[in-house]
Amino acid sequence: MRIKLDRTLCDGFGICAKHAPEHFSLDDWGYASLIGNGTVQPPDEADVHRALLDCPVHAIIELSPE
Ligand code: SF4
Repeated sequence: MRIKLDRTLCDGFGICAKHAPEHFSLDDWGYASLIGNGTVQPPDEADVHRALLDCPVHAIIELSPE
């Protein structure tokens, strides 16, 4: 799967980094950035999907396959 992160929506709850620390890093204020280019390998998809569902502001978006 491929994801993107809309940092304008992120409200710094940090849930994504808790679920999938290998894909999301938090800055000093708790706002998230994607680690890497948004490509998620199959073994990580469950963690990332949980982050996506739990993000309170829906800032993590799954991109449809090209
Ligand atoms: S869970 Fe959502 S709001 Fe919280 S840090 Fe991650 S992207 Fe931002």
